[in-house]
Amino acid sequence: MFSKILIANRGEIALRIIRACKEMGIKTVAVYSEADAQSIHVQFADEAVCIGPAQSSGSYLNIAAIMSAAEITDVEAIHPGYGFLAENAHFAEICESCNITFIGPLPQHIRMMGDKMAAKETVEKAGIPVIPGSEGLIKDKDEALRIAKRLKYPVIVKAAGGGGGRGMRIAHNDVSLVNSMLTAQAEAEASFGNASVYIEKYLEKPRHIEIQILADTSGQVLHLGERECSIQRRHQKLIEETPSPAMNAALREKIAAAAVAAARSIGYVSAGTIEFLLDASGNFYFMEMNTRIQVEHPVTEMVTGIDLIKEQIRIAAGQSLRIKQDAVAFLGAAIECRINAEDPERNFMPSPGKIETFHLPGGRGVRIDSHAYSGYAIPPYYDSMIAKLIVHGQDREDAILIMQRALEECVIAPIKTTIPFHQRIFANPQFQRGEYSTNFVEQLMSP
Ligand code: ADP
Repeated sequence: MFSKILIANRGEIALRIIRACKEMGIKTVAVYSEADAQSIHVQFADEAVCIGPAQSSGSYLNIAAIMSAAEITDVEAIHPGYGFLAENAHFAEICESCNITFIGPLPQHIRMMGDKMAAKETVEKAGIPVIPGSEGLIKDKDEALRIAKRLKYPVIVKAAGGGGGRGMRIAHNDVSLVNSMLTAQAEAEASFGNASVYIEKYLEKPRHIEIQILADTSGQVLHLGERECSIQRRHQKLIEETPSPAMNAALREKIAAAAVAAARSIGYVSAGTIEFLLDASGNFYFMEMNTRIQVEHPVTEMVTGIDLIKEQIRIAAGQSLRIKQDAVAFLGAAIECRINAEDPERNFMPSPGKIETFHLPGGRGVRIDSHAYSGYAIPPYYDSMIAKLIVHGQDREDAILIMQRALEECVIAPIKTTIPFHQRIFANPQFQRGEYSTNFVEQLMSP
């Protein structure tokens, strides 16, 4: 096992990884930008190294600075968390060439799955249904129009290198398709430095279902059930839960088997998530694979009792998974709310600033993953998530009741947060009945 790990990230996920390391007796090195000197992850790590200015390009994305910090502090492995360099194959290669273990998959798997078009082609070959769409990248508008005609509107234009809900545009007719292509290309070029786009059939009112997998170097692949992430705003997840209210044992078996087959077909190693869209008739289609730990991983941890970060670290250290598929038990229901420093009344405008009062809930079935505290000034440079509130109940109804009282207990002031918006969702009868799809939030917000 490693004796010291560097965490190439910030915020709640850096803290989450430090906590796992402490429980495993592993020393930790935090890295931080000049804007994060007061961050808790810096205080809780055994060592901390400032790696550059506030802008992520000079710090959390600065590979040279991170590798220097790793060398100076003599770590054996780097955990990238999510976001920043977590899905950067080049970074994983550099770690490898410096003989520092990258806690994640092999660089070639990050690269393959990071190209969404290549990922679809790969899993389709393994016999997994994919969303109908273009067979490759779109070269020009005539090709786009031809494909849209074949798929029938609506279609969605997606960036091959996309992520975080960016670089996606829906088109309902020829005119909007041409515009969508141009905007998606421009957005993709600006955000990911890659203007390649492809087209898919736009499924109406699907549900976002993803399967968590764990795979070790001995070839064992486990699935840890599904998470439903259909409560999204602008294609970004707000609430995640497991089990999915749309799931039954037979369907779960089929989707999980597809996810395991996808991972097996490429010899994937580490934790990973296979994302699918599920339609109202129970058909499911592969959408993409995320080759990292996900923000919403705690809901899976709550129902399975498995610590996903520790498993990632053990797998990276070459250990075999100690649990077999049959022994994975799913207990009760778990739900996560992403609490963002945003003002839901002002179109979710970021609301950075100093938190004067930060009181979070406790009690039965409540877990908080957060790097914030009273007196913490939220820097404006990074994403707006300040806490994850996760609850675990005997069943979904119980979990909803725990979440409602936990949200009521939260006091985060004077900044604005998404808490009132979450309360609105949890009070909604349709949500309570589990009858929702990815357009739920849009519907809720439309006058
Ligand atoms: P990202 O990597 O940017 O998060 P994804 O490919 O995971 O993008 O898609 C994010 C969300 O966008 C999905 O959860 C879903 O709500 C919506 N979406 C993506 N593709 C389609 C599609 N073909 N039809 C309908 N909705 C889609």
